[in-house]
Amino acid sequence: MATAVPTTSHAVPFDPESIRGDFPILQTRLHATDGNSGVPLVYLDNAATTQRPRQVIQSLVDVYEKHYANVHRGIHWLSDQSTDLYEEAREKTRVFINAAAREEVIFSYGTTEGINLVARSWGDANVKAGDEILLSEMEHHANLVPWFQLAERTGCKVRHLPITDDGQLVLDALPKMLTDRTKLVAVTAVSNVLGTINPLPEIIRQAHAAGAKVLVDAAQSVPHMRTDVQALDCDFLAFSGHKMLGPSGVGILYGKRELLDAMPPFLGGGSMIRRVRLDGFESADLPAKFEAGTPPIVPAIGLGAAIDYLNQVGLDAIHAQETLLTLKAHEVLEGLDAGVRFLGPEPAKKAGIVSFTMKTMHAHDIAQLLDRAGVAVRAGHHCTMPLHKRLGVTASARASFYFYNTTAEVETFGRALGEALRIFKRK
Ligand code: PLP
Repeated sequence: MATAVPTTSHAVPFDPESIRGDFPILQTRLHATDGNSGVPLVYLDNAATTQRPRQVIQSLVDVYEKHYANVHRGIHWLSDQSTDLYEEAREKTRVFINAAAREEVIFSYGTTEGINLVARSWGDANVKAGDEILLSEMEHHANLVPWFQLAERTGCKVRHLPITDDGQLVLDALPKMLTDRTKLVAVTAVSNVLGTINPLPEIIRQAHAAGAKVLVDAAQSVPHMRTDVQALDCDFLAFSGHKMLGPSGVGILYGKRELLDAMPPFLGGGSMIRRVRLDGFESADLPAKFEAGTPPIVPAIGLGAAIDYLNQVGLDAIHAQETLLTLKAHEVLEGLDAGVRFLGPEPAKKAGIVSFTMKTMHAHDIAQLLDRAGVAVRAGHHCTMPLHKRLGVTASARASFYFYNTTAEVETFGRALGEALRIFKRK
């Protein structure tokens, strides 16, 4: 079998400083002028997308230089090589989330496509007028719009589990909201704004007891904490490669085999068929049934390399580092005299995502002034307009961490915010 995955060199537990050497982009200096070498990049926009280590970048180069052809099609040597690597990446992913079988691991283009696949394929086949889909008030648009579209097609009703003012699900409301009409509960594992880590085992237990299926939007959890789909007992789970060191353009939809088996294909075309006649077709077996056309071959192999890297660092160490950074960010922001309001629960109860507003500065001004100091954060509604409306704000600033961030960077972020406040006051 071809190998395109070099290994990392450092030991576990890791030192973020030594790990940073694996990430070429983190060496960037920006805003250089004559006689000034600029400022180092402080990348705190990891909830939007993460950066890639050399090992992942090299895996892509290796495939293109040595192993690339279309998969599952050729009888030739090169096609076998790329098919082996593609399937090896599926197996790495299966082990990473502890799925029971490779048939349950579908390569998609990302979380968004995975959720759309379920809404179209499972939704159209199983949901009818009067049925209910239960979401929450903290969902990303990717876990809202596909269900609104399903409601437009079928006449089903979309409902939302409420949240508290500090951004936690009102779990007490769940038993009443789960009715015999609830067909599916679709909920995020970790909010991309609040950082809230939702109590999935309890939600899944109650949903199943009420006869509903559960889809987990795991875009913000799989990259940061251990995921075991069998222990969770979720029915579907979707995530994206680019949020976990992998390339963009690849994601995973996990589904329980019996559900995927019973679902009609989502997209039609090559690869997803067993036979085509002039008057119809028969679908291929899983997982090919849901991988129409040429799949994201190289991104999928790169995702396999990203999983190797994450395994070597260790998800527990990753989670511990992010907790440290989150606590530090809260401390730094609390030290500013700027009317900071945190969106989300106290730091001990959340993932490495710190969203906030300031009395004196709009989120977009915060992000722009931070950028002058080389600090990249996101500002806006972060694809959660209903959540921002619920919290009574139109926009927020968000610093989001990955394990390669350091406490020194969080201090730079704090100093840059202090300077931004001074600049803003002078205006
Ligand atoms: N769900 C959540 C919670 C997210 O944070 C994101 C991306 O930010 C998505 C879904 C959509 O992911 P993608 O754009 O990779 O499909």
